[in-house]
Amino acid sequence: MAQSVSTNSSGTGSSETDAQDVEPDNSVPTNIDLVDDKLYLGNLAAACDIPLLEKYQISHILTIDSCPLPAKITHLPFVKTKFIQLCDIPREDILHHFEDTYEFLRKAVEDKDGRYALVHCYFGVSRSATIVLAYMMRKYEISLEDAQDRLKSRRSVIGPNYGFLSQLKLYEKMKFSIDKNNIFYKRFRLHVAADKVKSVKLLAPPFTDVIKKDPALHTVRPEPVVYRCKKCRRVLASASNLLTHREKKSPLWFDFQGEEDASEMGSPICAQMFFIEPITWMSNVAQSLQGKLHCPNQNCKSKLGSFSWVMGCVCPCGAKVQPAFYLVPSKVDRSTSVLNFTRTVVPQEFKRHGRVSRVTLGGIRTTGRTGRAQRNNLTKFPRGIG
Ligand SMILES: [Zn+2]
Ligand SMILES: [Zn+2]
Repeated sequence: MAQSVSTNSSGTGSSETDAQDVEPDNSVPTNIDLVDDKLYLGNLAAACDIPLLEKYQISHILTIDSCPLPAKITHLPFVKTKFIQLCDIPREDILHHFEDTYEFLRKAVEDKDGRYALVHCYFGVSRSATIVLAYMMRKYEISLEDAQDRLKSRRSVIGPNYGFLSQLKLYEKMKFSIDKNNIFYKRFRLHVAADKVKSVKLLAPPFTDVIKKDPALHTVRPEPVVYRCKKCRRVLASASNLLTHREKKSPLWFDFQGEEDASEMGSPICAQMFFIEPITWMSNVAQSLQGKLHCPNQNCKSKLGSFSWVMGCVCPCGAKVQPAFYLVPSKVDRSTSVLNFTRTVVPQEFKRHGRVSRVTLGGIRTTGRTGRAQRNNLTKFPRGIG
């Protein structure tokens, strides 16, 4: 029995049952090239040609296509397959699959019983070439340019679409791994999520990872610099949630060179608006295309800013940011306090005597009578302005 490993672009498992088996168009000739050690790159017709698979001793097939291979191939006893459902359009997130496909190919070529691996899409030009370029870049730790030269010398017809090329460039910038803290990667992921929100009016898995944990509740390693509601002092964002841009320069996830040029020209980081990642306290961001952001403290609810997935927002400096989630600087304070959250503990012995004890993360402890003046006093925090 053939082993079959499947995944789709949403990463939620097999989609073989969702898509129909499609026989290749017989008018398309088979097309296959040996592009690396034990690795072939070819078209769909080649992947469906059983005599060819036998002739080239192919034991592993990686399919990146809108439809899976027909059962006559996936059920071959000598072939292990993996399917990734993906269209050849620049807006598709192919980067998301680079780690997974690298592992499949690495194991295939290292498999003592394995013979050759074949990566294919419909024409063997864009999607499959992108996967092979990412594989080569990581394997040999080479730039996209070097990987393209190497691959083109073995298969001249490769031509990833411009969206895939930008994702490969980002992969190179991230040193051949997915760095979730990389600002370009964050922008890219938000851009992909915005596309989904635009089409289905809802942010659903697997794109919900773009909504970050609430720093007021996430206290394992509180960050030293946070942004608080000016009115109630509630922590709203950490410094790492900030998506900065340079003055008058619209931030684009793929404009690596533009960002470098702006940096070299000394263009300052804009501080006229605080653009941040979406955070779980923004209760309406997963269900709405745009809206207002209010302080999550139920006793405050101060208006802090707005968000817009599709239209984005023009910063007062002139930069267009899309999607945009922003806090108005006059509504928030930048604070260098490490006391990211506080809680009030009322021990039994004090309750009886009408006294409270307040403990903060920093270990500061205050006690006093629970009168109005005391309660008011308890809500005051040192305003650490950074
Ligand atoms: Zn507030
Ligand atoms: Zn700006």
